[in-house]
Amino acid sequence: SEQSYDVVVVGAGGAGFSAAIEAAQAGKSVVIIEKMPAVGGNTLISGGEMNAPGNWVQKKLGIEGDSVETYYQDTMKGGDNLGNPEMVRYLAEHALESAEWLRDVVGVKFLEDKLFQFGGHSYKRALIPEGHTGQELVTKLNAKAEELGVKILVNTKATELIQDDSKRVVGVKADHQGQVVTFHAKNGVVLTTGGFGSNVDMRKQYNPEMDERYLSTDSVGSTGDGIVMAQAIGAAVTNMSSIQTYPVSNPETGEISLLADTRFDGAVLINQEGQRFVEELDRRDVISKAILAQPGGYAYQLWNQKTDDISHSKEHHQAEYQELKKQGLLVEADTLEEVAAHFDIDPAKLKETVAKVNQYAKDKKDPDFNHRAGLASLEEGPYILEKVRPSVHHTMGGLVTDKDTRVLDEAGNPIEGLYAAGELTGMIHGSNRLGGNAIADIITFGRVAGKMVSK
Ligand code: ADP
Repeated sequence: SEQSYDVVVVGAGGAGFSAAIEAAQAGKSVVIIEKMPAVGGNTLISGGEMNAPGNWVQKKLGIEGDSVETYYQDTMKGGDNLGNPEMVRYLAEHALESAEWLRDVVGVKFLEDKLFQFGGHSYKRALIPEGHTGQELVTKLNAKAEELGVKILVNTKATELIQDDSKRVVGVKADHQGQVVTFHAKNGVVLTTGGFGSNVDMRKQYNPEMDERYLSTDSVGSTGDGIVMAQAIGAAVTNMSSIQTYPVSNPETGEISLLADTRFDGAVLINQEGQRFVEELDRRDVISKAILAQPGGYAYQLWNQKTDDISHSKEHHQAEYQELKKQGLLVEADTLEEVAAHFDIDPAKLKETVAKVNQYAKDKKDPDFNHRAGLASLEEGPYILEKVRPSVHHTMGGLVTDKDTRVLDEAGNPIEGLYAAGELTGMIHGSNRLGGNAIADIITFGRVAGKMVSK
């Protein structure tokens, strides 16, 4: 069958919804096609935190001194200066506006009294959506898109871009339950299909180290489709070998452990021998490699109730806590002996390690691994011990675009009618994406794509 719209958006994650909303507000007829049975992509299952320098919560908390320039510098440096300076600057200049747009136009609720400071950031600048996951973002984006008359078709997988004789992109071929559907796009096509973290073959093609040993935190839909479809008509890619792993994930399903955010408040990592082996606040790639080098290729995160009282981690991620417990991947008990016994760790070794941690916390000095925030005392139970393993989390590389989100070919010329935004682009994060920068990126450039395709 055939369908016609002004704008066809491929992929219903944060970038796709942002593009669709802007295009609809510009008066265009818009469809979003989504291959999975439900919308949301990685945006839905992420923590949903979003960096915005100079934001209203910073003002409320009295956090002064943050600026567009500092955020720009942090982001460039965090990616070993491999991001595109012009586009990173655009992100830094517009992240706050994007957050305000989510708040005021889309109706997203952010916590008013708390911010995250992820690794590599000079300030606490990441807004936290209510519920501490991307669900708040996706629910509100979806509702806004529907309100504006955007058509959203699930179970509809784009397979091929269609070009006219002048090579302009004029539509998409898709598969809907075994039927070919052709979507004609009068203005253009916006690709927002996310990254390729769930596609092991594609990972290995660009970075052989990212093989089967790594599960993935990503949605099963993150298979790089948009990148491959665009490449098939001559689009250029960049930075494809840069693949980020998240160190503390579910060792059986690969899911990200948001419960383990207690790591930012003093939880420690230990191996099967009951010993620490890495600085717990080192870069994601460093910790991931260190965990894989331990016996069995996994580790445990240990914290106590006092640490959780600071993080409120169990409260915010109750479902994950219960699920891990049920799977036998987490234990909570009053004493170190008990938690050690659950995982067959030598209790004497674990106690020895924790005694050291307590001493280092007191001395405010960690001679073993130089914990940058200073260790927290784990003197008192109850204790929580969680088994963890690194998972592929984000693919930094992807399509080459310009600041207007036009997809560029190998010669650097825009492919007419084709736009891209979100994780499938490779312009922002360089070798290493900083926490809280994916949402800022996808909303900012998703909106740009929606405006540009509507022109
Ligand atoms: P971003 O963060 O860039 O918005 P997400 O992962 O949140 O990326 O969303 C990408 C969405 O695109 C996912 O919901 C995914 O299932 C969808 N998707 C991926 N490939 C296709 C395809 N070939 N056709 C339609 N939708 C797709």
